[in-house]
Amino acid sequence: MIVVMKSDATAQHVSDVIGRIKSDGYDAHLSEGEQRTIIGVVGSSPTPLKEENYGTMDGVDKVLRVTVPYKLASREFHPHDTLVPLNGSQMGSEKVLVIAGPCSVESREQIIETACAVKEAGATALRGGAFKPRTSPYSFQGHGEAGLKWLAEARERTGLPVVTEVMDPSLVPMVCEYADVLQIGTRNMQNFALLNAVGESQHTVLLKRGMSSTIEDLLMAAEYILSHGNKRVMLCERGIRTFETATRNTFDVNAIPVLKSMTHLPIVADPSHAVGKWEFVDAISRSAVAAGADGLIVEVHPKPDEAWSDGRQSLKPDRFEDLMKQVRRIAEAVGRTA
Ligand code: PEP
Ligand code: MN
Repeated sequence: MIVVMKSDATAQHVSDVIGRIKSDGYDAHLSEGEQRTIIGVVGSSPTPLKEENYGTMDGVDKVLRVTVPYKLASREFHPHDTLVPLNGSQMGSEKVLVIAGPCSVESREQIIETACAVKEAGATALRGGAFKPRTSPYSFQGHGEAGLKWLAEARERTGLPVVTEVMDPSLVPMVCEYADVLQIGTRNMQNFALLNAVGESQHTVLLKRGMSSTIEDLLMAAEYILSHGNKRVMLCERGIRTFETATRNTFDVNAIPVLKSMTHLPIVADPSHAVGKWEFVDAISRSAVAAGADGLIVEVHPKPDEAWSDGRQSLKPDRFEDLMKQVRRIAEAVGRTA
């Protein structure tokens, strides 16, 4: 249920409604727009929610049942786009923001060289994995805290905020110390303990869609994070499993406009993991921006042939520079900037 306050409702009216929600045994989540405040009622309680009890309170305009299960993530609860701050810009605004960097942090020199190159080409943030979720236990698992330290050094050198994956709830505080954005990878989208931990951290989160998850599953995963009062959540379409084997995954371009209609959260596209081959990354990036993606996350490596992971889909810096030019042209064509 959501309680829509009148545009002239006072702070006391809002606090009375919240008090009533709490005494009924539910949690209240506030969405304060320019025009009016909306209060989301979530949680469970033996006391049934009665719309008429709230509809007659002072300052209340109307009470609506939210029909979808992802209440806080829904557009009904929060009609306007959520803007997530990133490096002086905002993901979800008119400007399409690009996050770029290697799949894995391999060495201090590699991450600093890549950070300088992507910054030069116009990236807004640096990506790089220090904890790597690998299909094989024998593959490189990441440098851990040493990798995080190199990422932080790259940020100092370039000013680019760091986006990096966290795989274990117990490591959330440590990753928060070094990273600006916590990435939840496709394999952990429904790791509920991890979602709760990043929700509690109040750190910005990039939540990647599970490779076999529906759009609704993704929104329910986001709901876990939002339910802790953490509103800085970006969603990421990174390709899903289909019967097709010519590409690593199948980029679900449908998900972009569909998610934009269902949720207020910003939508990022990951063309690299979606298609899995560097020569198609620019075409998929163009399609994502044309479809309304708010941002991209792209793998870039100075020497893809020598990459410790995902070299096949990594762009060389000069190709990334060219991609940025293409992204700017498409962004302009759809009334945005990049
Ligand atoms: C990555 O970003 O390198 C990664 C492992 O992504 P995903 O979780 O989407 O496979
Ligand atoms: Mn990767």
